[in-house]
Amino acid sequence: MNIKRVCGLACVAVVVAACGREGAEDRSADVAAATPAELRAHSALFERVVLQPAPGVYVAVGFGLANSIMIEGDDGIIIVDTMESRTAAREVLAAFRAITDKPVVAIVLTHNHADHVFGGEVFAEGRDVPVYAHASTGVAIDRVVNVVGEAIYDRSMRMFGVALSPDERVNAGIGLELRYQPQDVALRRPTHVFEDELELDIAGVRLTLVHAPGETDDQLFVWLPERGVLLPGDNIYETFPNLYTIRGTPYRDVTRWVDSLDRMRDLAPDVLVPQHTRPVVGAGEVDALLTAYRDAIQYVHDQTVRMANAGLGPDEIAARIALPPHLAEHPWLQEFYGTPAWSARSVFTGYFGWFDGDVAHLEPLAPDERARRLAAAMAAGRPIGEQARAAVADGELAWAIELARWWERAEPDSAEARDVLAQALELRGQAHANPNARHWYLTAAREARGDGAFAPYDPSAASEALMASLPIDNFMHAMGTRLKAEETLDVDEAVAFEFTDLGRVFTVHIRRGVAEVRERDGAEATARVITTSQTWKLIGAHKKNAAAALASGELRIEGGLPRVLRFLGYFDR
Ligand SMILES: [Zn+2]
Repeated sequence: MNIKRVCGLACVAVVVAACGREGAEDRSADVAAATPAELRAHSALFERVVLQPAPGVYVAVGFGLANSIMIEGDDGIIIVDTMESRTAAREVLAAFRAITDKPVVAIVLTHNHADHVFGGEVFAEGRDVPVYAHASTGVAIDRVVNVVGEAIYDRSMRMFGVALSPDERVNAGIGLELRYQPQDVALRRPTHVFEDELELDIAGVRLTLVHAPGETDDQLFVWLPERGVLLPGDNIYETFPNLYTIRGTPYRDVTRWVDSLDRMRDLAPDVLVPQHTRPVVGAGEVDALLTAYRDAIQYVHDQTVRMANAGLGPDEIAARIALPPHLAEHPWLQEFYGTPAWSARSVFTGYFGWFDGDVAHLEPLAPDERARRLAAAMAAGRPIGEQARAAVADGELAWAIELARWWERAEPDSAEARDVLAQALELRGQAHANPNARHWYLTAAREARGDGAFAPYDPSAASEALMASLPIDNFMHAMGTRLKAEETLDVDEAVAFEFTDLGRVFTVHIRRGVAEVRERDGAEATARVITTSQTWKLIGAHKKNAAAALASGELRIEGGLPRVLRFLGYFDR
């Protein structure tokens, strides 16, 4: 072990505790040559070091996948997150013990993930230390450990490259590597839990734990009001976030994630100390970073919903989704962990579940059968249309539908392709005893034939009573999903909406491809719409004419009508 002092932009003082990492295997020239330089450069974030981003706040980076944070009080220390194993926790504790010998008087778990909870016993040092966590953290640990343990283990081993050589693995995006071993777990279960917010005073340190759903439902952040220090848990780190993780996860409600980041922004922290990657110092830097991060998440959510409402499925949305350039280039939003494409699929699945709406995917052949047919079709080397027709004639309808859908996609102008698809769908639907499936096949057949099967959704058809019952929050927040992002990449403009019947004001801020909707009278608004909530809902649903409402005085505009009209023109409806 060597100790050295380094000064970086982000830190007042730095203590480094670096241990030699064992024998890198023979470096494969091929692997090294093919590895992207930016991925190699990203490893610099995980150099093993203890940083002190604020007085009495220390963060151990590079000891395992996650960071562990020590907050020093008058007569004790608080540990926030405990690493993924006994071994990693011991190394962190030794580094902290080089700074202070005060006893550990509390442990905080920011969430249930293995890289944060499995070294608790080590930090407790054999004593009865309170462990603070959200009320749902214990249940979430049990689910991963027990219910789906085998599957999550296999998937995690692949995702974290546990079997790979260091050269192949390079880093794990949010840390150098996962140092988890099932036999090396030292869990201390939560003893003190809360639901929304918990104010604590421990060893003379005031801290607030705030439930902040995001990367997990049980996520919390730690706010040190006297020091202006925010520990955001895993809701932000220096890579595009894991809105979905390929190792498998229940749906992560990304709208709540955005809300959690907004709650952090409202605190105006001076220092941000995440549980992965490195701290950021400076109120301006932290605010700009939290804003960019929440915008990226909202963008993926809103534009995925917008494309789904336009009829696209997850494969199509994943192929199209791309962050606005200023976010795509942001150093904290590079795709080293999550990606916008995986995230878009997850948002789609969160709203619609596994069925993507493509009729060919409703009841496909079993994978092995499908593989045999695909191999045989390639070997036969005949045109896809010919094979699709033959499958219809043979009554091989699942296969026929799949081939005809590929044919239709490959040749969207082919009336013949659509006709064969329609035939296959009709035969499949007519013989189907399940009404849901039957109706879907037969309707899809009509659509393939171009017979407008049903009238498109018309928001103005909703009754005034239904509109009156719709909460204004829901109505305003849905605006984000209707933003024409592609037309607003250079727009930075806000309008306030004052609802006189409710005494409530919302500010809608279009910021380069994202519409942030907050209930507040934003100083940044350059125009103001004043009306009742029902009048605004009826205008939004095209049930009431805005010009008529202006003429009658039901609607008033401050700051210029043209400006407001241009602003509203940035939304689909
Ligand atoms: Zn983590």
